[in-house]
Amino acid sequence: MAHVLHLGHQVWNNYHQTAACNLKSRIELINGDQPNGRAHLKAVAKTVLALLREARQYQIPVRPIGAGWSPSPINVVEDGWLVETLRLNRTFKIGASNLHADCDIGAEALLLVQAGATVDEVYESAEELGRSLRTGGASNGQSFAGACATGTHGSVWQAGGIQDHVRAVQLVTPERILWIEPTRACLSDDFIAQTGSEIIRDDRIFAAALLHVGAMGFVTALLIETDPIYMVQNIQKAAKIRREHIDWLCRGEFRKFSCAFGLNEEPYFQQPILNPCDPFDKKALLRFLYKRPYDPSIPSPPPGEMGAGYDALTLLGKAMAESDFFQAEILQLAMEQAYPDNRDVDDPPAIATWGCTTEEHAPIASLFNGSVTIERNKLSEVFDLIIDSFRRGGGGTVVTLRFVRKANGLLAPARWPDNVVIDFDGPNVESSHQGYKKVVEALDDAGIAFTRHWGKTNNLNEWRVQQDYGKDFDDWKWAQAQVMPDAADRQVFANDELVKLGLI
Ligand SMILES: Cc1cc2nc3c(=O)[nH]c(=O)nc-3n(C[C@H](O)[C@H](O)[C@H](O)COP(=O)(O)OP(=O)(O)OC[C@H]3O[C@@H](n4cnc5c(N)ncnc54)[C@H](O)[C@@H]3O)c2cc1C
Repeated sequence: MAHVLHLGHQVWNNYHQTAACNLKSRIELINGDQPNGRAHLKAVAKTVLALLREARQYQIPVRPIGAGWSPSPINVVEDGWLVETLRLNRTFKIGASNLHADCDIGAEALLLVQAGATVDEVYESAEELGRSLRTGGASNGQSFAGACATGTHGSVWQAGGIQDHVRAVQLVTPERILWIEPTRACLSDDFIAQTGSEIIRDDRIFAAALLHVGAMGFVTALLIETDPIYMVQNIQKAAKIRREHIDWLCRGEFRKFSCAFGLNEEPYFQQPILNPCDPFDKKALLRFLYKRPYDPSIPSPPPGEMGAGYDALTLLGKAMAESDFFQAEILQLAMEQAYPDNRDVDDPPAIATWGCTTEEHAPIASLFNGSVTIERNKLSEVFDLIIDSFRRGGGGTVVTLRFVRKANGLLAPARWPDNVVIDFDGPNVESSHQGYKKVVEALDDAGIAFTRHWGKTNNLNEWRVQQDYGKDFDDWKWAQAQVMPDAADRQVFANDELVKLGLI
């Protein structure tokens, strides 16, 4: 069995101090001394099964968490058990003999990841094996399971969310230990049996388990597919963009956009950060990453030179919230000061592996994060509407445009073939919330379909989730009922937010 550390009753705050709860107990899970990956998975799953059964018996709600980084209150539970997974952080290689005969992925591409391994730990493990992840978010401290649970994404326009790497999920309910794969099998039945799991091979259930917002059971491990290792070159600069550039981005003319500000090649990643007070007259902060072959002789530059840690920008929001005097100018000054400008086209190239494009994050303040995801080809149509309504509501900090493909998972917010995610990051004050509300109202009034990040402030409710996801929501509920047919089992994972969202 794994070790269970009962830390007792306490008040717990999430990472950004946007939600708090009184816990019956905070519980930490720690790996035991098992001889191999399969044995670790089995031991942890059995430990979790026992905890969940006890919780069901005494009607104690359980909330599995990773890093607690979601600002939305999906990671809190009142008078329940908060079960931390960050010390379930091992990763394991897969041998070719462990693959199912139907598997079309090479064993070298697969990595078994315990739920609590952070994104950074997974980056490192993959790199040690000469592999790389395809995409990730702006930072790297989320647990891999937690990041998948909400569909964490970056701005790699040919990828969806981080959950797209996942090829199988080990999920524990109060009744069973499950190994969920798509209909096309990945790992051998024998290997899976040694993890102590029953097999479910079903495309719909797998698509539900990829992104579950913490409402489908307790994820103990994930099997992920990695890419051969590569490097990226960072170009990062402040530059004025024009309305026609928004049109290019809207049409997916990323190379043209890159050519205007960066290199004359297809970028792997591109991200403009705008000053909503004056998006065209004030300089935007641009970041491009271009794929490069792996070359171990290239020394890694410091993370800042790879554009890691743009979150520093959110710090300025705190000061901004105090006053709107000269708001646009102060914001611009702070944006440009916080953003290194020594990574332009003519500067010596900064090239490093994908894992070096993010860095550790330290909580700086109670922050507001909200976003809307819309079909990319609507960007030009909604750009003014979004910027104007955000400002009208009082939102005064930065607006970021990120581009992603349709992501895997029935509840993935990136649900159109090509998507633009518009992020609003700022201080956790009323004006940020009001600005975001105005954006939502304006999009609704204009009849523009959009979705919202499960892990960020979103003001969603069950009715709206049903509207936004339609049949995919029904399919997700069906899959949840396959995994946990008994309502008492689903109730173990109840918290106020998940009930409000209609997910429990
Ligand atoms: C500094 C910072 C930067 C960020 N950058 C980005 C970004 O670039 N892009 C983006 O999309 N998002 C971003 N986010 C949001 C963040 O990636 C997501 O909220 C993510 O879900 C957080 O992961 P976590 O491990 O902290 O999950 P938690 O907040 O701990 O949990 C999230 C949900 O998953 C559930 N859960 C966690 N672990 C398990 C498990 N093992 N089994 C079942 N359920 C589980 C929890 O109960 C909860 O419902 C950022 C957040 C911060 C604080």
